[in-house]
Amino acid sequence: MHIKVEVDDEGWEPDNWRIVYKNIRKMREDKSAICDREYKYKKKYSAKEKRFHVLIGLMLSSRTQDETNHAAMERLKEHGLTVENILKTSDKKLGELIYPVGFWRTKVKYIKETCQVLKDKYDCDIPRTVKELLQLKGVGPKMAYLCMCSAWDECVGIGVDTHVHRIAGRLEWTQHPCKTPEDTRKGLESWLPKSRWKEVNIMLVGFGQQICLPVNPKCGECLNRELCPVGRKWKPDKE
Ligand code: SF4
Repeated sequence: MHIKVEVDDEGWEPDNWRIVYKNIRKMREDKSAICDREYKYKKKYSAKEKRFHVLIGLMLSSRTQDETNHAAMERLKEHGLTVENILKTSDKKLGELIYPVGFWRTKVKYIKETCQVLKDKYDCDIPRTVKELLQLKGVGPKMAYLCMCSAWDECVGIGVDTHVHRIAGRLEWTQHPCKTPEDTRKGLESWLPKSRWKEVNIMLVGFGQQICLPVNPKCGECLNRELCPVGRKWKPDKE
């Protein structure tokens, strides 16, 4: 059982994090993870529409495999992924386009409601603050922070998804164990220099897709095996 001890948190940072970080960066050098893929679509989209794509991609991503999400986004972009066009698209057709992402029926509803708000209040753009993003149906803190970073290039917080949450836990990158991604975000933000907030999400997501997998992480291939509490317990016959 973890006992929380009241200590002075100021100045805390994980041991060896700079080396661990550098190693992960090295393992991600070839940028060959699913999250690094460029979307291949023929239509030309404006900057405003591309921001909308970021938001929709994030809305589809919860409880959905990265590969499934990527394929759904490709279909939507081929169909015409603009606020106006999605509002014109029937729920049935939208469902067919995003299926089989997790909770696709609910997401059809949320996307339609969000598009209406974007049209009425934001001239078909997406809001530019975390507070306003959080008011959109189906958008939680993780999505809002990632959206600010990817769509607006304003990293006001670290985007912590399931990969970042898991890896930060394994590396003990927060002073106390964190149950939720939101707690992990606060824990990471307390010590990670702001200049790395943008990079850390995509770096860890790809690392989580290729090496530090949700089940059976490939510790044998990981440069951090000796520095990571999980890696240190790893034995070849366990893989
Ligand atoms: S040693 Fe294993 S658990 Fe630790 S970061 Fe590497 S892959 Fe993940």
